[in-house]
Amino acid sequence: MKLNFDNPYAKLGDAFSAKMSPRPLPNPRMVSINRLGADLIGLDPDALSSDAALQFFSGAEMIDGADPLAMVYAGHQFGGYSPRLGDGRGLLLGQVRGAEDKLWDLHLKGAGPTPFCRGADGRAVLRSSIREYLASEALHHLGIPTTRALCLIGSDEPVMREKLETAAGLIRLSESHVRFGTFEYFSYTDQHDQLKQLADYVLEIHYPDLASDPSPYDRMLMEVAGRTAEMIAQWQAFGFAHGVMNTDNMSILGQTFDYGPYGFMESFDPGYICNHSDPGGRYAFNQQPNIGLWNCLALAHALKPLILPGTIEHMRGYYQTRFFERYHGLMNGKLGLGDVQDGDPELVDRLLTLMEDHRLDYTIFFRGLSDPASRAAQNTTAFKDWYAAYDTRLALEQTTPEQRLHSMQARNPKYILRNYLVQTAIEQAEQGDFAEVDRLLILLQNPFDDQPDMQAYAAEPPDWGRHLEVSCSS
Ligand code: AMP
Ligand code: MG
Repeated sequence: MKLNFDNPYAKLGDAFSAKMSPRPLPNPRMVSINRLGADLIGLDPDALSSDAALQFFSGAEMIDGADPLAMVYAGHQFGGYSPRLGDGRGLLLGQVRGAEDKLWDLHLKGAGPTPFCRGADGRAVLRSSIREYLASEALHHLGIPTTRALCLIGSDEPVMREKLETAAGLIRLSESHVRFGTFEYFSYTDQHDQLKQLADYVLEIHYPDLASDPSPYDRMLMEVAGRTAEMIAQWQAFGFAHGVMNTDNMSILGQTFDYGPYGFMESFDPGYICNHSDPGGRYAFNQQPNIGLWNCLALAHALKPLILPGTIEHMRGYYQTRFFERYHGLMNGKLGLGDVQDGDPELVDRLLTLMEDHRLDYTIFFRGLSDPASRAAQNTTAFKDWYAAYDTRLALEQTTPEQRLHSMQARNPKYILRNYLVQTAIEQAEQGDFAEVDRLLILLQNPFDDQPDMQAYAAEPPDWGRHLEVSCSS
């Protein structure tokens, strides 16, 4: 197996990472492959099923050009600062040039203990590896910026969490593994030369258009904040809750990063907490936009040695503008409305309040909004009043009903990764059957299309699947 390695991160030097080999996953088995991921890195998807691929991706044998390393970083976790985190169980195997010369990090999550593992076992359980594998691809196909996934490797190594589980490996693809927390680490250890070196690296690789700006670091911060705001606007519009928005889980590219106890909104509840380890709801669904800003402010503080004093206040306003523009635009799109006009945000807010009062399934309601039968089902006075206001607003649009239906179906997914769906796939995988993982992977590649054989996957969860608890344990 050959990959076109080019490892600029490894060249930054010892301050940035610890070079080391993975601890191979025992008795590895390639249990799911994402052919679309292979395309990204210029690999023949069939090569993923080869023994050479299994040996490499399970950590047993490095191939030419790989230069594995654990990255160092810090981060604010649930509001408190952890001065030294780093990849405790993941390794950047190398960076690969793929289609259009784009650079992709190949990251093995579950690669064994590293110098940053803080006494933990360095492994990832099968359960959480499946959760990340499926969710990252699901978000991508909803159009939300995210890391991607290449393949999932099973193993028979026992690992202890709340109960005994087995270890697995996930090969994550990302344009970058630089986190807000990477900057925080160098800033708060007063390594300001390395802080600048890291910022220059990010500019050169990821924001080349800003590199020649007179204030490149200020521009970079603004762009990161803008992208983060828009990513979170998309989370809100699709009902996605990340669950652990610590600054070490925030990507410098504004992409959804490090999937743990995430959840998709089912019955609409703005205060939805998907993470059982977050009883206070710091990362509740309706807190995400504010927490995104809080995290950008943490990044801004880390960048203080490089930026102008006024930039932080500018960033605050810029984040809010980018968030609201994107959010209102997306919500208008869900309603089949074009440009946002006065009163549109209020119309959306009224609808969300009704959905909360009636405990409506977020995805099913929006998908059915263009369908007269589903309208007839909401026959309370409050809903009838809302529909009257909606019809008045729709009358201002120039589009035909057919155009509107088409556009609404392209914006309101039919299929999302419901918690019970991923749970079912996990339970079967734990018995050695990965067919359901593959089925969900394929289903979620076309979340907006009606897939006649897959109607059951668009339904509300069964009772047992409504209140599944997922925690930080992984
Ligand atoms: P996460 O909650 O997955 O974002 O992890 C937070 C930090 O803890 C990261 O630095 C991880 O690398 C580290 N970590 C989590 N689980 C383990 C584990 N089983 N072994 C070693 N490090 C871990
Ligand atoms: Mg993390």
